[in-house]
Amino acid sequence: MTQARPSPHAAVTDPVRAGYARYAQQAERWLGRYQQQGGRVFCGAGCFACCNMPIRVSLAEALIMTAALTPEQARAVEAHARAAVANARTARSDEQYVQRHRDEVGYCPILNRETGGCSQYDARPTRCRDTFSAFPATYCESGTLERMTRREQAEYRREVARTPGTDGELHFIAPLEHLSEPVWVAASRAMRQSWGLEVWGDFWLLTTLGADSRFMSAVSQGNARAAWQIASGRGLAHRMLLEME
Ligand code: SF4
Ligand code: SF4
Repeated sequence: MTQARPSPHAAVTDPVRAGYARYAQQAERWLGRYQQQGGRVFCGAGCFACCNMPIRVSLAEALIMTAALTPEQARAVEAHARAAVANARTARSDEQYVQRHRDEVGYCPILNRETGGCSQYDARPTRCRDTFSAFPATYCESGTLERMTRREQAEYRREVARTPGTDGELHFIAPLEHLSEPVWVAASRAMRQSWGLEVWGDFWLLTTLGADSRFMSAVSQGNARAAWQIASGRGLAHRMLLEME
């Protein structure tokens, strides 16, 4: 019988996996109560308009995706990371960065465009787990809110304000985002304890660097400077997309 090899990064990934499992239970209970009280959730299988948003993760989370990818997916994720870096280098504002990420860098390469499903559902990061919409997906699409007339925007804001579960400004369900905070805390603590260093940043960039043994060796030794130089040597360092503290 072949035994699965233990993950070299289990000390940081196991607490995150445990956090994902707890989150799933808590979110299911919360959603059950919300829907019983008449709340509506529009997310479902095959809905993917949110899969072109930038995603910030911890390296602890990214390593879970790194371990799950096929070689072909890893190449596509690296290409996506390089496009994100190119966007960060030339964006004149955070708003432009986000808009161009959605419109030009485009959909996450882990998305199965035929089914509209996530091809690595069990390894998807927190942000993909805790984003739920109280409005139909068209409101999640890039440009929808920006294209609205002033009158439509005012109506949107009124509708959001009367919809339970939103933060009063956007149509996403805020308590389900707050429920995932323990996952971020667990990742932060595990990285600090294991490496003496926290690494956060762009999901695709960290998923790519997670497979780089030199980068991971520098991180494991708590050597942020060496890790940065290795990422930089590969053209994968940008202060917006790679944070080490
Ligand atoms: S957040 Fe929006 S786009 Fe994403 S799954 Fe939910 S409804 Fe669909
Ligand atoms: S990891 Fe999966 S759920 Fe998250 S953005 Fe990519 S395809 Fe969508």
